[in-house]
Amino acid sequence: MSSFNDYNFKPFIQAAIKDLGFKKPTPIQSKVIPTIKHGKSVIGKSATGSGKTHAFLLPLFNNLDVNNNSTQIVITTPSRELAYQIYENVKQIVKFSEQPIRIANYVGGTDKERQINKLKKEQPQVVVGTPGRILDLFKNGDLDINTANQLVIDEADMTLDFGFLETVDKIAAAMAQDLQMMVFSATIPPKLQPFLKKYMKNPVFDDIPTETVINQNVDNWLISTKGNDKNSLIYQLLTMGNPYLALIFANTRERVDEIEAYLQGQGLKVAKIHGGMQPRVRKRVMKQIQNLDFQYVVASDLAARGIDIDGVSHIINDDIPSDNEYFVHRVGRTGRGGMSGIAITLYGPDEDQKIQALENMGINFKPKEIKHGDVVDSYDRRRRQKYKGHHDKLDGSTLGMINKKKKNVKPGYKKKIKRAIKVKEDQNRKIEVRSQIRARKKQKKRSSERYQ
Ligand code: AMP
Repeated sequence: MSSFNDYNFKPFIQAAIKDLGFKKPTPIQSKVIPTIKHGKSVIGKSATGSGKTHAFLLPLFNNLDVNNNSTQIVITTPSRELAYQIYENVKQIVKFSEQPIRIANYVGGTDKERQINKLKKEQPQVVVGTPGRILDLFKNGDLDINTANQLVIDEADMTLDFGFLETVDKIAAAMAQDLQMMVFSATIPPKLQPFLKKYMKNPVFDDIPTETVINQNVDNWLISTKGNDKNSLIYQLLTMGNPYLALIFANTRERVDEIEAYLQGQGLKVAKIHGGMQPRVRKRVMKQIQNLDFQYVVASDLAARGIDIDGVSHIINDDIPSDNEYFVHRVGRTGRGGMSGIAITLYGPDEDQKIQALENMGINFKPKEIKHGDVVDSYDRRRRQKYKGHHDKLDGSTLGMINKKKKNVKPGYKKKIKRAIKVKEDQNRKIEVRSQIRARKKQKKRSSERYQ
């Protein structure tokens, strides 16, 4: 599928796509749009930054019966910011419909009384919100979701993580029998399976591999903290150049507070955003961030999922996130819209395994260090292990020879072993170089195809 024209969307959807400037569907969109358009349930394993929001919004709004006044579509998402983000996308689409489409955004921390009063007059045709508030409005008899038969569960893994799955289950149970359910998630944890089985008969499963969502325009730098003060490292990194917009990620709210306070103390104009802040304040700061009022933003993972700004030039990871998929989400905030980006990850001496796990996911780190106020290439952190463990890559037969050596001391054996090791190492080196060239070619192809 190479063009949005192939989907025969209604004219108002086509107008919305044109206005968005999307030239061709992203991989998840080409996979999922036809399935949703045909009314089938789908599980889309795909992360933020892949274009998944429009993968469900475009076909759903295309299928919406604008003449039917009852609620038809419910979209749940675990964070208020994300709900707000999706709602903004929804607004952009509905403004092209000739007939008005009634949409509503229901999240916690907003004026429930006002929502109830409005619901007494009319029901929204499309609901976007966080599970708690949606269920709340339904249970009190204000929101009528019995009529709706399309349910999107966005960020299902996070929904599970935050303990909202039970609430989503209740929403699904209250909805129409012939439910079309669309589940989007960066990971599909086993704990999600019973829920999926309960509501989905033979869903189409589309797995968009992580490597396609790791933006190829992003340079991943790895800097060892080596006992240096992390706050001061971050400050140095931020003030070396003049980043258009830098996002600094930390694992905990406390650490977000700490970094923000430090940078502010150094005279930088910094915003912070995390789940512990008052919803009203969070919303206000988010708006300011979107308006590019700040050059530096310190954020936690949850809050950051709602940040969708095209101009993020730098990401700094104060630490490695607890979940590797969060790393993809973090890095996915930069390098958007074909622009390049830099993601800098700080790591401590005991975090080697975590980095290895990220490398196994296909993330290609470049070792760097700060020298004389500049970021320069550094040595590979595994250089010692590489030397020490250079036998690990040898196959059984060569290792057998080495082990044998300890017992048998035949003349010329030492030389033979040495030669065998050398041949094997040369072979391994060639294989590695070839696979690197192949990966580079693949990357190049992908980035030139991306969003063309
Ligand atoms: P999402 O994964 O839904 O958060 O989308 C990531 C970003 O990609 C958003 O800024 C979208 O507006 C943008 N996007 C979505 N679909 C396309 C497309 N087909 N072409 C270009 N950009 C897109």
